[in-house]
Amino acid sequence: MNELEIIFLGTGAGLSTTRAHTAIALRCPDGTTLLLDGSSGNSALRNGEAVGIRARDYDHVLLSHDHQDHLSGLMFVQGNRSRETPDETPLSIYGSSLALEGLRKAAVAGKVPDIRDGAAYNHSGKQVMRWQEISPGRKLELGPQTVAWSFDVDHIPGSVGWRIESGGLTVVFSGDTMYSRGLVEASQGADLLIHEALYTDEAVEMAHGRLHATSGDAARSAEQSSAKKLIITHIDNFFHEDPTPLLEDAARHYPGPISTAYDLYRVSLEKRA
Ligand SMILES: [Zn+2]
Ligand SMILES: [Zn+2]
Repeated sequence: MNELEIIFLGTGAGLSTTRAHTAIALRCPDGTTLLLDGSSGNSALRNGEAVGIRARDYDHVLLSHDHQDHLSGLMFVQGNRSRETPDETPLSIYGSSLALEGLRKAAVAGKVPDIRDGAAYNHSGKQVMRWQEISPGRKLELGPQTVAWSFDVDHIPGSVGWRIESGGLTVVFSGDTMYSRGLVEASQGADLLIHEALYTDEAVEMAHGRLHATSGDAARSAEQSSAKKLIITHIDNFFHEDPTPLLEDAARHYPGPISTAYDLYRVSLEKRA
């Protein structure tokens, strides 16, 4: 039996004071471990360690966009990885050109000594991080049975979502976005759609005004793509204690199973051989 495990290391919206910022670990059936976004501060590291995932375990990082709540924590993941396991391969990161420019600036701000040609080097001249620009729809081979590709979404310029396929299972991550036709196309038949939502449909203007989705948008996307399951994340303080309004709003548009993520929430998808 193939199993793909999804571990939510951070599930808070950008201005959340109750949750860590966005980061999701995927343990794929072929042994590949991916990190979707890097949270901020040391949250991806701390919450990863809490579930037995170390910085050295990540084979690749897939970035959604250049907002600090999604990428600034990668500096600490990289720092911990190269200190704890000096012989480890450089942290491999994929993102749009604009997201990678944000990453490069974070590395400069983080006083990484040498940054050139899509890579960062430590004081000993060892390459500790390398990044590669993606183009939408181009398939990346990330493991023996794991592929992923990005698709453009509707948030700030350079924002993408990701479709990851491994061992016959498919997970789609929206990153930050409003309702996106591109996401619906890229999510067709997914076993799981992980979609952000800031408010319910009732506050659609506020959500879209901040370039975010409503829970109704997330659910309509799940319905239109025939996704088998929907998890809503990027949760603001308002719904931290009681996400019921998000769930009820979503259930009006999508008949499948829906849940809201929380920090350290773990989900397994299974496919019988
Ligand atoms: Zn965000
Ligand atoms: Zn954002």
